[in-house]
Amino acid sequence: MQQAEKNERLRANQRRCRERNRERYLELHRAGYYRRKVRDPERVLEIGRRAGAKWRAAHPTELAERLREYRRKLVDETMAAYGGAICRCCGEETSEFLSIDHINGRSKDEPRRTGVKLYCWLRQNGWPTGYQVLCHNCNQAKGTYGTCPHQLGEPLAAVQ
Ligand SMILES: [Zn+2]
Ligand SMILES: [Zn+2]
Repeated sequence: MQQAEKNERLRANQRRCRERNRERYLELHRAGYYRRKVRDPERVLEIGRRAGAKWRAAHPTELAERLREYRRKLVDETMAAYGGAICRCCGEETSEFLSIDHINGRSKDEPRRTGVKLYCWLRQNGWPTGYQVLCHNCNQAKGTYGTCPHQLGEPLAAVQ
């Protein structure tokens, strides 16, 4: 038998062995995991939290990338849920300029939610009505003057 062939067989054996042990290990791990989870859920949660913190500390770049991806998806979903990524007032389509406007303003007892927090809350609550897509300019003007000057068809000076 050629040396190369021997090596190949050895490697194949090692692979098979690893595969078998891996499954057995995973099975045992799972069984133990569920037993522990029933007996002491708080401890299992704590182990998960610690593992998560360890992973985050060891993978700062990947973590930032995942967060960016999460935010991007959340923003896309939110804009789509409220009629698409375009300002309802002026037609601005640059995503960095867009925001979600509370059409009738916030009620007094409503907590102030902005950005990702607001989008997350909207998704959790099944995209409630009463919100629309506005660009930051139109949103700001509406908040400050009650109506965006675009809607009055007059220059800003006339609104002040
Ligand atoms: Zn606008
Ligand atoms: Zn406007």
